[in-house]
Amino acid sequence: MPQILDGNRVRDAIKTELAPRIAALTALGRPPGLAVVLAGHNPASEIYVRNKVKTSQELGIHSETLTPPVSVTTAELLHTVECLNARDDIDGILVQLPLPPQVDAKRILLAVSPTKDVDGFHPCNVGNLVAGLPGPRACTPAGIIELLHRYGIPIAGKRAVVVGRSDIVGKPVAMLLLHQHATVTICHSRTPSLAAVCREAEILVAAIGRAAMITGEFLTPGVTVIDVGTNRVDNRAEVARIFRGSPEKLAAFDKRGSVLAGDVDPLDVVEKAAAYTPVPGGVGPLTIAMLMANTVASAERRAGIC
Ligand code: NDP
Repeated sequence: MPQILDGNRVRDAIKTELAPRIAALTALGRPPGLAVVLAGHNPASEIYVRNKVKTSQELGIHSETLTPPVSVTTAELLHTVECLNARDDIDGILVQLPLPPQVDAKRILLAVSPTKDVDGFHPCNVGNLVAGLPGPRACTPAGIIELLHRYGIPIAGKRAVVVGRSDIVGKPVAMLLLHQHATVTICHSRTPSLAAVCREAEILVAAIGRAAMITGEFLTPGVTVIDVGTNRVDNRAEVARIFRGSPEKLAAFDKRGSVLAGDVDPLDVVEKAAAYTPVPGGVGPLTIAMLMANTVASAERRAGIC
Protein backbone atom coordinates (compact mmCIF):
# COMPACT_ATOMS: atom_id res chain seq x y z
CA MET A 1 0.00 0.00 0.00
CA PRO A 2 1.32 3.48 -0.80
CA GLN A 3 2.02 6.03 1.90
CA ILE A 4 -0.81 8.50 2.40
CA LEU A 5 0.49 12.06 2.74
CA ASP A 6 -1.87 13.32 5.41
CA GLY A 7 -2.41 17.07 5.07
CA ASN A 8 -4.46 17.28 8.26
CA ARG A 9 -1.55 15.89 10.28
CA VAL A 10 0.94 18.34 8.76
CA ARG A 11 -1.51 21.21 9.21
CA ASP A 12 -1.83 20.38 12.92
CA ALA A 13 1.96 20.23 13.30
CA ILE A 14 2.32 23.65 11.61
CA LYS A 15 -0.36 25.12 13.87
CA THR A 16 1.35 23.72 16.97
CA GLU A 17 4.65 25.30 15.88
CA LEU A 18 3.00 28.65 15.20
CA ALA A 19 1.40 28.87 18.67
CA PRO A 20 4.52 29.96 20.64
CA ARG A 21 5.46 32.48 17.92
CA ILE A 22 1.97 34.00 18.15
CA ALA A 23 2.23 34.04 21.96
CA ALA A 24 5.60 35.82 21.73
CA LEU A 25 4.19 38.47 19.37
CA THR A 26 1.16 38.95 21.61
CA ALA A 27 3.41 39.38 24.65
CA LEU A 28 5.32 42.05 22.74
CA GLY A 29 2.19 44.15 22.37
CA ARG A 30 -0.44 42.67 20.08
CA PRO A 31 -1.32 39.47 18.22
CA PRO A 32 -0.68 39.17 14.47
CA GLY A 33 -3.53 40.74 12.48
CA LEU A 34 -5.13 39.41 9.30
CA ALA A 35 -7.72 41.31 7.26
CA VAL A 36 -9.80 39.47 4.68
CA VAL A 37 -11.71 41.40 2.03
CA LEU A 38 -14.73 39.45 0.82
CA ALA A 39 -16.71 41.36 -1.80
CA GLY A 40 -20.12 40.15 -2.95
CA HIS A 41 -21.72 36.77 -2.26
CA ASN A 42 -19.82 33.83 -3.70
CA PRO A 43 -20.82 30.74 -1.65
CA ALA A 44 -17.45 28.98 -2.17
CA SER A 45 -15.55 32.16 -1.19
CA GLU A 46 -17.74 32.54 1.89
CA ILE A 47 -16.82 29.00 3.02
CA TYR A 48 -13.09 29.57 2.39
CA VAL A 49 -13.17 32.86 4.31
CA ARG A 50 -15.13 31.33 7.20
CA ASN A 51 -12.47 28.60 7.50
CA LYS A 52 -9.66 31.14 7.41
CA VAL A 53 -11.30 33.23 10.13
CA LYS A 54 -12.00 30.14 12.25
CA THR A 55 -8.38 28.98 12.04
CA SER A 56 -7.14 32.50 12.89
CA GLN A 57 -9.35 32.55 15.96
CA GLU A 58 -8.19 29.10 17.10
CA LEU A 59 -4.60 30.31 16.91
CA GLY A 60 -5.16 33.69 18.58
CA ILE A 61 -4.50 35.67 15.40
CA HIS A 62 -6.64 38.80 15.26
CA SER A 63 -8.76 38.58 12.14
CA GLU A 64 -11.39 40.77 10.60
CA THR A 65 -13.50 40.33 7.51
CA LEU A 66 -14.52 43.32 5.43
CA THR A 67 -17.58 42.67 3.29
CA PRO A 68 -18.11 45.40 0.70
CA PRO A 69 -21.32 44.97 -1.31
CA VAL A 70 -21.40 43.20 -4.68
CA SER A 71 -21.81 46.66 -6.31
CA VAL A 72 -18.44 47.89 -4.95
CA THR A 73 -16.30 49.85 -7.41
CA THR A 74 -12.58 49.54 -8.11
CA ALA A 75 -12.03 52.96 -6.52
CA GLU A 76 -13.87 51.98 -3.36
CA LEU A 77 -11.94 48.73 -3.01
CA LEU A 78 -8.65 50.53 -3.65
CA HIS A 79 -9.55 52.85 -0.78
CA THR A 80 -10.32 49.84 1.47
CA VAL A 81 -6.96 48.26 0.66
CA GLU A 82 -5.09 51.54 1.19
CA CYS A 83 -6.68 51.91 4.64
CA LEU A 84 -5.59 48.38 5.53
CA ASN A 85 -2.07 49.06 4.21
CA ALA A 86 -1.86 52.04 6.58
CA ARG A 87 -3.04 50.19 9.69
CA ASP A 88 -0.34 49.20 12.19
CA ASP A 89 -2.38 46.35 13.67
CA ILE A 90 -2.85 44.55 10.33
CA ASP A 91 0.07 42.38 9.17
CA GLY A 92 -1.66 40.45 6.41
CA ILE A 93 -4.22 41.44 3.79
CA LEU A 94 -6.04 38.84 1.76
CA VAL A 95 -8.38 39.86 -1.04
CA GLN A 96 -10.58 36.85 -1.69
CA LEU A 97 -10.97 36.07 -5.40
CA PRO A 98 -13.00 36.16 -7.54
CA LEU A 99 -13.97 39.84 -7.20
CA PRO A 100 -17.24 41.15 -8.72
CA PRO A 101 -16.86 41.50 -12.52
CA GLN A 102 -16.88 45.33 -12.57
CA VAL A 103 -13.79 45.44 -10.32
CA ASP A 104 -10.31 45.56 -11.83
CA ALA A 105 -8.88 42.65 -9.82
CA LYS A 106 -5.30 43.18 -11.06
CA ARG A 107 -5.29 46.78 -9.78
CA ILE A 108 -6.63 45.67 -6.41
CA LEU A 109 -4.00 42.93 -5.98
CA LEU A 110 -1.28 45.38 -7.03
CA ALA A 111 -2.49 47.85 -4.40
CA VAL A 112 -1.89 45.44 -1.50
CA SER A 113 1.39 46.36 0.17
CA PRO A 114 3.96 43.64 -0.71
CA THR A 115 4.90 43.53 2.98
CA LYS A 116 1.31 42.55 3.87
CA ASP A 117 0.68 40.29 0.86
CA VAL A 118 0.15 37.01 2.73
CA ASP A 119 -1.09 35.29 -0.44
CA GLY A 120 2.25 35.88 -2.17
CA PHE A 121 0.45 37.04 -5.34
CA HIS A 122 1.93 40.57 -5.61
CA PRO A 123 4.39 40.85 -8.53
CA CYS A 124 7.11 41.96 -6.06
CA ASN A 125 6.71 38.70 -4.18
CA VAL A 126 6.48 36.67 -7.38
CA GLY A 127 9.81 38.32 -8.27
CA ASN A 128 11.21 37.40 -4.83
CA LEU A 129 10.14 33.81 -5.43
CA VAL A 130 11.80 33.63 -8.84
CA ALA A 131 14.97 35.29 -7.53
CA GLY A 132 15.04 33.04 -4.45
CA LEU A 133 14.80 36.08 -2.14
CA PRO A 134 12.87 36.03 1.17
CA GLY A 135 9.19 36.92 1.07
CA PRO A 136 5.79 35.30 1.37
CA ARG A 137 5.27 32.33 -0.93
CA ALA A 138 1.87 31.41 -2.42
CA CYS A 139 0.14 29.29 0.23
CA THR A 140 -0.83 26.12 -1.68
CA PRO A 141 2.60 25.68 -3.35
CA ALA A 142 4.38 26.40 -0.05
CA GLY A 143 2.16 23.81 1.63
CA ILE A 144 3.10 21.20 -0.97
CA ILE A 145 6.83 21.68 -0.31
CA GLU A 146 6.18 21.56 3.45
CA LEU A 147 4.31 18.27 3.03
CA LEU A 148 7.12 16.69 0.97
CA HIS A 149 9.75 17.84 3.50
CA ARG A 150 7.83 16.64 6.53
CA TYR A 151 7.29 13.20 5.00
CA GLY A 152 11.00 13.03 4.16
CA ILE A 153 10.38 12.72 0.42
CA PRO A 154 13.55 13.80 -1.37
CA ILE A 155 13.17 16.50 -4.02
CA ALA A 156 16.77 17.26 -5.02
CA GLY A 157 17.76 15.49 -8.21
CA LYS A 158 14.24 14.14 -8.83
CA ARG A 159 12.24 14.50 -12.03
CA ALA A 160 9.16 16.59 -11.16
CA VAL A 161 6.27 17.14 -13.55
CA VAL A 162 3.68 19.84 -12.78
CA VAL A 163 0.44 19.70 -14.76
CA GLY A 164 -1.10 23.20 -14.70
CA ARG A 165 0.52 26.62 -15.14
CA SER A 166 -1.72 28.93 -13.13
CA ASP A 167 -0.26 31.88 -11.23
CA ILE A 168 -1.58 30.57 -7.93
CA VAL A 169 -0.50 26.91 -8.10
CA GLY A 170 1.28 25.57 -11.20
CA LYS A 171 3.92 28.26 -11.79
CA PRO A 172 4.88 28.90 -8.16
CA VAL A 173 5.03 25.21 -7.21
CA ALA A 174 7.25 24.56 -10.23
CA MET A 175 9.56 27.37 -9.12
CA LEU A 176 9.69 26.08 -5.54
CA LEU A 177 10.52 22.56 -6.76
CA LEU A 178 13.26 24.04 -8.96
CA HIS A 179 14.72 25.88 -5.96
CA GLN A 180 14.75 22.51 -4.19
CA HIS A 181 16.89 21.18 -7.08
CA ALA A 182 14.28 19.07 -8.86
CA THR A 183 14.38 18.87 -12.65
CA VAL A 184 11.00 20.39 -13.45
CA THR A 185 8.70 20.11 -16.45
CA ILE A 186 5.55 22.27 -16.57
CA CYS A 187 2.65 20.94 -18.64
CA HIS A 188 -0.63 22.54 -19.70
CA SER A 189 -3.56 22.09 -22.07
CA ARG A 190 -1.34 22.35 -25.16
CA THR A 191 1.27 19.82 -24.03
CA PRO A 192 1.45 16.94 -26.53
CA SER A 193 1.79 13.36 -25.26
CA LEU A 194 0.85 14.45 -21.75
CA ALA A 195 0.63 10.90 -20.37
CA ALA A 196 4.14 10.07 -21.62
CA VAL A 197 5.57 13.26 -20.08
CA CYS A 198 3.82 12.50 -16.79
CA ARG A 199 5.22 8.98 -16.78
CA GLU A 200 8.72 10.51 -16.54
CA ALA A 201 7.80 12.01 -13.16
CA GLU A 202 9.16 10.82 -9.85
CA ILE A 203 7.09 13.61 -8.29
CA LEU A 204 3.87 14.46 -10.11
CA VAL A 205 1.84 17.54 -9.16
CA ALA A 206 -1.65 17.73 -10.69
CA ALA A 207 -3.21 21.23 -10.54
CA ILE A 208 -5.67 21.08 -13.39
CA GLY A 209 -9.25 21.29 -12.14
CA ARG A 210 -10.54 18.19 -13.99
CA ALA A 211 -11.86 15.33 -11.90
CA ALA A 212 -9.79 12.13 -12.13
CA MET A 213 -8.13 13.19 -15.41
CA ILE A 214 -4.77 11.69 -14.40
CA THR A 215 -5.37 7.97 -14.77
CA GLY A 216 -3.04 4.99 -14.39
CA GLU A 217 -1.46 5.46 -17.82
CA PHE A 218 -0.01 8.82 -16.59
CA LEU A 219 1.67 7.22 -13.56
CA THR A 220 4.95 5.39 -13.40
CA PRO A 221 5.14 2.84 -10.57
CA GLY A 222 6.64 4.34 -7.40
CA VAL A 223 5.76 7.95 -8.23
CA THR A 224 4.88 10.48 -5.49
CA VAL A 225 1.59 12.11 -6.45
CA ILE A 226 0.46 15.51 -5.19
CA ASP A 227 -3.17 16.03 -6.16
CA VAL A 228 -4.15 19.69 -5.85
CA GLY A 229 -7.47 19.30 -7.66
CA THR A 230 -10.61 20.06 -5.71
CA ASN A 231 -13.46 19.20 -8.05
CA ARG A 232 -17.07 19.04 -6.98
CA VAL A 233 -18.69 16.14 -8.89
CA ASP A 234 -22.45 16.63 -8.99
CA ASN A 235 -23.42 13.84 -11.37
CA ARG A 236 -24.18 10.45 -9.82
CA ALA A 237 -23.00 8.46 -12.85
CA GLU A 238 -19.69 10.36 -12.77
CA VAL A 239 -19.31 9.60 -9.06
CA ALA A 240 -19.99 5.92 -9.78
CA ARG A 241 -17.44 5.93 -12.63
CA ILE A 242 -14.67 7.78 -10.78
CA PHE A 243 -15.05 5.80 -7.54
CA ARG A 244 -15.93 2.46 -9.25
CA GLY A 245 -19.35 2.27 -7.65
CA SER A 246 -18.04 2.83 -4.08
CA PRO A 247 -21.11 2.55 -1.78
CA GLU A 248 -19.63 5.15 0.63
CA LYS A 249 -19.14 7.73 -2.11
CA LEU A 250 -22.56 7.08 -3.60
CA ALA A 251 -24.16 7.40 -0.16
CA ALA A 252 -22.27 10.68 0.37
CA PHE A 253 -23.51 11.87 -3.01
CA ASP A 254 -27.11 10.90 -2.19
CA LYS A 255 -26.87 12.84 1.07
CA ARG A 256 -25.16 16.01 -0.19
CA GLY A 257 -25.76 16.09 -3.95
CA SER A 258 -22.05 16.15 -4.77
CA VAL A 259 -18.70 14.69 -3.72
CA LEU A 260 -15.15 16.00 -4.01
CA ALA A 261 -12.71 14.40 -6.41
CA GLY A 262 -9.11 15.28 -7.12
CA ASP A 263 -7.46 15.58 -10.52
CA VAL A 264 -5.99 12.09 -10.12
CA ASP A 265 -7.92 8.85 -10.46
CA PRO A 266 -8.42 7.80 -6.82
CA LEU A 267 -8.06 4.05 -7.43
CA ASP A 268 -5.28 4.06 -10.02
CA VAL A 269 -3.11 6.21 -7.73
CA VAL A 270 -3.37 3.63 -4.94
CA GLU A 271 -2.28 0.95 -7.37
CA LYS A 272 0.74 2.76 -8.80
CA ALA A 273 2.06 5.46 -6.44
CA ALA A 274 4.56 5.06 -3.62
CA ALA A 275 3.00 8.05 -1.84
CA TYR A 276 0.05 10.32 -2.57
CA THR A 277 -2.16 13.06 -1.17
CA PRO A 278 -5.81 12.08 -0.76
CA VAL A 279 -8.69 14.38 -1.73
CA PRO A 280 -9.99 15.65 0.60
CA GLY A 281 -7.39 15.71 3.38
CA GLY A 282 -4.20 16.15 1.36
CA VAL A 283 -3.15 19.53 -0.01
CA GLY A 284 -6.34 21.38 1.00
CA PRO A 285 -5.67 21.71 4.76
CA LEU A 286 -2.17 23.06 4.12
CA THR A 287 -3.32 26.13 2.22
CA ILE A 288 -4.88 27.75 5.29
CA ALA A 289 -1.99 26.60 7.52
CA MET A 290 0.49 28.36 5.23
CA LEU A 291 -1.69 31.48 5.18
CA MET A 292 -1.42 31.53 8.96
CA ALA A 293 2.35 30.95 8.72
CA ASN A 294 2.69 33.84 6.24
CA THR A 295 0.68 36.12 8.54
CA VAL A 296 2.84 35.27 11.55
CA ALA A 297 6.05 35.74 9.51
CA SER A 298 4.79 39.12 8.30
CA ALA A 299 4.01 40.17 11.88
CA GLU A 300 7.49 39.08 12.99
CA ARG A 301 9.15 41.00 10.16
CA ARG A 302 7.12 44.10 10.94
CA ALA A 303 7.95 43.77 14.65
CA GLY A 304 11.62 43.48 13.72
CA ILE A 305 12.10 40.10 15.38
CA CYS A 306 13.29 38.15 12.36
P1 NDP B 1 -6.59 27.05 -13.33
O1 NDP B 1 -7.88 26.79 -14.03
O2 NDP B 1 -6.16 28.46 -13.12
O3 NDP B 1 -5.42 26.29 -14.13
C1 NDP B 1 -5.59 25.00 -14.62
C2 NDP B 1 -4.38 24.59 -15.40
O4 NDP B 1 -4.61 23.26 -15.87
C3 NDP B 1 -4.12 25.46 -16.61
O5 NDP B 1 -2.75 25.76 -16.71
C4 NDP B 1 -4.57 24.60 -17.78
O6 NDP B 1 -3.80 24.76 -18.96
C5 NDP B 1 -4.32 23.21 -17.25
N1 NDP B 1 -5.20 22.25 -17.93
C6 NDP B 1 -6.54 22.31 -18.07
N2 NDP B 1 -6.99 21.26 -18.79
C7 NDP B 1 -5.89 20.54 -19.11
C8 NDP B 1 -5.71 19.35 -19.85
N3 NDP B 1 -6.72 18.69 -20.41
N4 NDP B 1 -4.44 18.90 -19.99
C9 NDP B 1 -3.41 19.54 -19.45
N5 NDP B 1 -3.52 20.68 -18.71
C10 NDP B 1 -4.76 21.17 -18.56
O7 NDP B 1 -6.67 26.24 -11.98
P2 NDP B 1 -5.89 26.45 -10.58
O8 NDP B 1 -4.43 26.29 -10.77
O9 NDP B 1 -6.40 27.65 -9.90
O10 NDP B 1 -6.46 25.19 -9.77
C11 NDP B 1 -6.26 23.87 -10.22
C12 NDP B 1 -7.02 22.93 -9.31
O11 NDP B 1 -6.52 23.04 -7.98
C13 NDP B 1 -8.52 23.23 -9.20
O12 NDP B 1 -9.22 22.01 -9.03
C14 NDP B 1 -8.63 24.05 -7.94
O13 NDP B 1 -9.91 23.93 -7.32
C15 NDP B 1 -7.57 23.38 -7.09
N6 NDP B 1 -7.02 24.24 -6.05
C16 NDP B 1 -6.94 23.69 -4.80
C17 NDP B 1 -6.37 24.40 -3.77
C18 NDP B 1 -6.26 23.75 -2.45
O14 NDP B 1 -6.05 24.42 -1.47
N7 NDP B 1 -6.37 22.42 -2.39
C19 NDP B 1 -5.90 25.77 -3.95
C20 NDP B 1 -5.96 26.23 -5.32
C21 NDP B 1 -6.51 25.47 -6.30
P3 NDP B 1 -3.82 26.12 -19.82
O15 NDP B 1 -3.00 27.10 -19.04
O16 NDP B 1 -3.21 25.74 -21.10
O17 NDP B 1 -5.26 26.53 -19.92
